[in-house]
Amino acid sequence: MYISTRGHAEKITASQAIVAGIAPDGGLYVPESFPKYSELDISNLCDLDYKGRAKYILSELLDDFTDDEIASCVNNAYGNGKFPEAVAPIAPVSENLWSLELWHGPTCAFKDMALQILPHLMTTAMKKNGTDKKVLILVATSGDTGKAALEGFKDVEGTKIITFFPEEGVSKVQKLQMTTQEGKNVNVFGVYGNFDDVQTAVKKIFVDKKIIDEIAEKGYTFSSANSINWGRLVPQIVYYFSAYCDLVNSGFIGIGDEIEFCVPTGNFGNILAGYYARKMGLPVKRFICASNANNVLTDFITTGKYSKCRDFYTTISPSMDILISSNLERLLFDLSDNNAEETAALMEELNKRGSYSISEGLKEKLQSLFAAGSLNDEKTMQEIKARYTDDNYLCDTHTAVALGVYRQVGDKDTTTVIVSTADPYKFNYPVLKAIGAPINDSMNEFMLVDELARFTKTKIPAQISSLKTKEVRFNEKIAKYGIANKVRESI
Ligand SMILES: *Cc1c(COP(=O)(O)O)cnc(C)c1O
Repeated sequence: MYISTRGHAEKITASQAIVAGIAPDGGLYVPESFPKYSELDISNLCDLDYKGRAKYILSELLDDFTDDEIASCVNNAYGNGKFPEAVAPIAPVSENLWSLELWHGPTCAFKDMALQILPHLMTTAMKKNGTDKKVLILVATSGDTGKAALEGFKDVEGTKIITFFPEEGVSKVQKLQMTTQEGKNVNVFGVYGNFDDVQTAVKKIFVDKKIIDEIAEKGYTFSSANSINWGRLVPQIVYYFSAYCDLVNSGFIGIGDEIEFCVPTGNFGNILAGYYARKMGLPVKRFICASNANNVLTDFITTGKYSKCRDFYTTISPSMDILISSNLERLLFDLSDNNAEETAALMEELNKRGSYSISEGLKEKLQSLFAAGSLNDEKTMQEIKARYTDDNYLCDTHTAVALGVYRQVGDKDTTTVIVSTADPYKFNYPVLKAIGAPINDSMNEFMLVDELARFTKTKIPAQISSLKTKEVRFNEKIAKYGIANKVRESI
């Protein structure tokens, strides 16, 4: 069963948690307990392909779904030619260092790993619970979630999706990907403000009784595709196991060997999924939490004090431009042995004062498992260049943050997997600048993409080249106070 991190919501099933998104007490749903895998279980996982691994792990964590339901969700998401056969391949970078490439899906970013399957999990969950309501998905996005959610939910029966993105906080490709979105059930708005403004406004709507009643009358119920939804997190646990199995299968590690993961982090969803994988028995010594100039998590992990009262920077890794990492709440809950009272009190502090400090006991646990570091834009550019020239590995800005932080705090003697979160083509401008390609400000998005292909002799992903011929369907920009109204209007 699933419980809320704030302790004032009823226990519910996995499918109910996926339909609900956020808990009614403002907390996040987590499983009461986790399955634990032995070395033999992991070795069995290694014999399966990605879809097989996903079916095995999801079946255990979403235990009110039947095996057939899970199989159908997994096949719809990772089959049908939407991903390459390996789904999430690992690529060698240098000695003891690997890159887990999570960006070979339809939108070229790691969010596809979860958002291609979430709509299927959600519609299956709705049916299981006998709901005749349609789902209204609201997304606050720093770029990649928006497109990946739109692509995942587009034309899915019984769903409607509205995406809000910070007008100045996403890359040109990201904006174009969203504003050209196809589908009958989609809507997209640019918002004046930063990602936290947008996320805060959307989170409020989810618990606003008046709006909830209003949309219920029209036959809708809210749900969230943000990484606060358990259905987003659970598919992400799979690729940590899968990367480990791939390393075992290629003979670089033996079953039981401990490895490390270095994760470029924003909302703390990706790295938290890794933490849960470890809790389920994956041999991981440590996680490295990598941040850009918005290094609120670096400070938190090194000092035990979380403070969002700081300057907000717009960086070249915009998907990590976040000051409130929502999923941290789940980590605090888990580190405190499911202490809802303590977790709720910390979140209350954050809400009221904009900061909180954790107890010495919690801090010790946190630091025994997580290392942290951050990279500003200049260092990130240097890292892109260094990996490209020294290792012949071309990476995007988010992945570069992780690679740079690994070089600061990583253990070179331990096999380490960098979790690579976006295709370099998606953030082409800073990548081109970093590697010294001849570009200028008069070049449009598509000229930049062509130049990246020419300069690096790599192939343009079809998902990006096809944007060229798509028409812009959504061009409306609104104030953050206008978000609730747009939600009302849309139904
Ligand atoms: C969303 C995103 C991140 C951050 O992931 P979280 O789960 O929010 O920590 C990092 N890189 C890219 C490219 C992303 O889209």
